[in-house]
Amino acid sequence: MYHQQEHGDAPKPVAQSDGVGVSVNLGHHDARQSQRCSECILPAEYPGIEYDESGQCNYCRRWKRKWDSLDFAKQAAQLEGILGAYRGKLYPYDCLIGLSGGKDSVYAAYILKKHNMRPLACTFDNGFLTETALHNISSTVNALGIGHVVVHAPPGDLHRLYRHCVLTAGEFCSVYNVGIRSALYRMAKCYGIKLVVTGQSNRTEASSPKEYFTCSSGYFQNVGGTVASKKELAGFMYMSQFKRALWHLRRTVVYLQLPSYVPWKEEEFKEELARNVDWRGSVGEQHADCRMSDAKEYLKLKHFGVTELTAKLSSLVRDRQLSREDALVRIQQQVDHLQENEASIREQIRKEFDLSESQLDEAIRASHIPYISKADTFLSNLKNLQEVLRYRKQK
Ligand SMILES: [Zn+2]
Repeated sequence: MYHQQEHGDAPKPVAQSDGVGVSVNLGHHDARQSQRCSECILPAEYPGIEYDESGQCNYCRRWKRKWDSLDFAKQAAQLEGILGAYRGKLYPYDCLIGLSGGKDSVYAAYILKKHNMRPLACTFDNGFLTETALHNISSTVNALGIGHVVVHAPPGDLHRLYRHCVLTAGEFCSVYNVGIRSALYRMAKCYGIKLVVTGQSNRTEASSPKEYFTCSSGYFQNVGGTVASKKELAGFMYMSQFKRALWHLRRTVVYLQLPSYVPWKEEEFKEELARNVDWRGSVGEQHADCRMSDAKEYLKLKHFGVTELTAKLSSLVRDRQLSREDALVRIQQQVDHLQENEASIREQIRKEFDLSESQLDEAIRASHIPYISKADTFLSNLKNLQEVLRYRKQK
């Protein structure tokens, strides 16, 4: 996933008051966000955002250009063509899929079974899986009758890396983001699987600027490299960015994003999953599958004044799954929740990562940006340029 900035038409930000006072006052600052995109809900604090004269943001414009005229009948035929090329070619699995117990990964496994595929599901145990996640994983595997592997990292290594990342860069999610991808490539190699399928796509997920999300192995190497040896990091990074790019270029492994081919209507498929695989979620909770979800959002709010839920809901608004007003209500509820529970969330972070109060404050002041790799910056610029050129051609 890439951050996309537009260079062709650099408009001036336009203040948009939506009248909803999402007031964030978690102790040291008040990030009242009244300037938001007139179409989605992304606020001016979101990295890389630019508004045009009508108040629409660059992430909305990019989304519309790429996805608004998607023909799902055409996409379905294309999907069947891709899956058909891998179906029944290998034994015992046709493809690989990450399974976290969250709705997207479970739905992706469900769709694959509907297409008569034999997926191998792979779970990366990040040490934070909830009872709900464990239930969802085992009920999905049993209901669909699919193979399953769980990759456990040594708990000591996990703890050390989490603690180091949070203290140094103010975040801890990169350990999981890099770990699950590494586990998938390792399993693909191990079983000779050539197709990796995911329930995430930049059609349905938040735009992911590298200044906000930490999912690159280059970044992780820069942060983790100061506390762990190359050998230790290798457990989380099965392959380098370069080798991964080479695999994709040579089509050693094909990476398929299902939401780019089939409608991905959350409210509808959550009910379908509850009926068919006994999937369970939590109302109002973004990630029922991770017990550190509030902690992550608390740190995001402190660092950026924008939670990941805000970014995720903006993509649902663009896809017309959610009204702008409902999204704003949900964000307000989340901010209220984080504010009311600030003391217990801080205690959870301190206990989990073995931090003192002052170390937690140090983590809140820390930034991941100095650790962004040169390769990420290069790839991101290349992608931006490619998109701008394609857009000009279309015009
Ligand atoms: Zn927007």
